[in-house]
Amino acid sequence: MNIHEYQAKAILKSFGAPVSTGYAALTVDEAIAAAKQLPGPLYVVKSQIHAGGRGKGKFKELAPDAKGGVRLAFSLDDVKNHAADMLGNTLVTIQTGDQGKQVNRLYIEDGSDIEKEFYISMLVDRETARVAFVVSTEGGMDIEAVAHDTPEKIKTFSVDPATGIQPHHGRLVAKILGLTGDLAKQAGVLVGQLYKAFVETDMEMMEINPLIITKTGQLKCLDAKVGFDSNALYRHPDIFALRDLTEEDAKEIEASKYDLSYVALDGTIGCMVNGAGLAMATMDIIKLYGSEPANFLDVGGGATKEKVTAAFKIITADPQVKGILVNIFGGIMKCDVIAEGVIAAVKDVGLKVPLVVRLEGTNVELGKKIINESGLNVISAEDLDDAAQKIVKAVNG
Ligand code: GDP
Ligand code: MG
Repeated sequence: MNIHEYQAKAILKSFGAPVSTGYAALTVDEAIAAAKQLPGPLYVVKSQIHAGGRGKGKFKELAPDAKGGVRLAFSLDDVKNHAADMLGNTLVTIQTGDQGKQVNRLYIEDGSDIEKEFYISMLVDRETARVAFVVSTEGGMDIEAVAHDTPEKIKTFSVDPATGIQPHHGRLVAKILGLTGDLAKQAGVLVGQLYKAFVETDMEMMEINPLIITKTGQLKCLDAKVGFDSNALYRHPDIFALRDLTEEDAKEIEASKYDLSYVALDGTIGCMVNGAGLAMATMDIIKLYGSEPANFLDVGGGATKEKVTAAFKIITADPQVKGILVNIFGGIMKCDVIAEGVIAAVKDVGLKVPLVVRLEGTNVELGKKIINESGLNVISAEDLDDAAQKIVKAVNG
């Protein structure tokens, strides 16, 4: 689960990490009121969307040379104009895709005078099974570009969970960033605070880009992008409450209600599969035969008829879907349950696109019989290969 920058900064602040003072705003008036509470004369007006690259982003509704989604304001009038430019408009950044994201919220922050911009992030490194730090002197810009062009400028290390964060980690970060004296000390303290925040709130990733040195010699987290491990959210109701449904795909929200693993994709073939491995294989084989999956959907091992019906409805509600492939290997899951679910859903929502069903495993004969006797226009397939070819052919003609 992701949260907004202003929420992430509030969490960092609660662990003692240095951030600027700021207030969230939903309207232009709130933005002005927020700025009035700040010392000025420099303010920053920041679009709050769950995507990075806002500063360099473009608003669909504004002129192509208009400024991006993070802007400096030098007066209350500036704040007003920038807020009016951003609210309700669609910001397209390198992370949003072409459709962009509507800006519904702003964060009005006390502006900082920047001496230097660095990069620091943390993530769970599955290879070492540890929390890893990624640190670079090249902050403020696209870290992917830095990784591509000058990979030697990105340093990583991981922390042994048995001993936790140690002073030598702080010294290492200071060394990587070329900090000495008081700034090195600040880096040591900050590294401890960030690590504690990360572990105690069950984060999955945290990216501070940029971490800055101010003109007055203070380290500060100027941006914060944070994601949490969804499986651990049950122990953080306060963090779960920060979930912003308007930032999430409506189909994914619906799927999560039924405990379905669903990820929306860009293709045209809707897939309903049981088991993550089979779902991946199904997506691969669709691509192999020249088409693209519209989604990843794993109905799970013990899906009920209701769950299958819900899954089918989510797939058919997507206007991008030009054909559906149901690919089920019945183990714990029984093929007849799947067949009944599919039929119930088709009767409910209708079937406007070709549907290929491949069933295998427990009660397969019964499942096939139910589908054949349903009178529905279902193309049945013998195996995965056959199924993929049939659905691609049905969609592409
Ligand atoms: P992002 O574009 O989504 O990564 O948003 P950021 O919060 O990182 O802001 C983009 C850029 O705006 C930063 O890299 C800074 O260069 C600039 N910026 C943000 N806040 C301030 C500030 O308080 N003062 C100044 N001078 N620049 C800022
Ligand atoms: Mg940033």
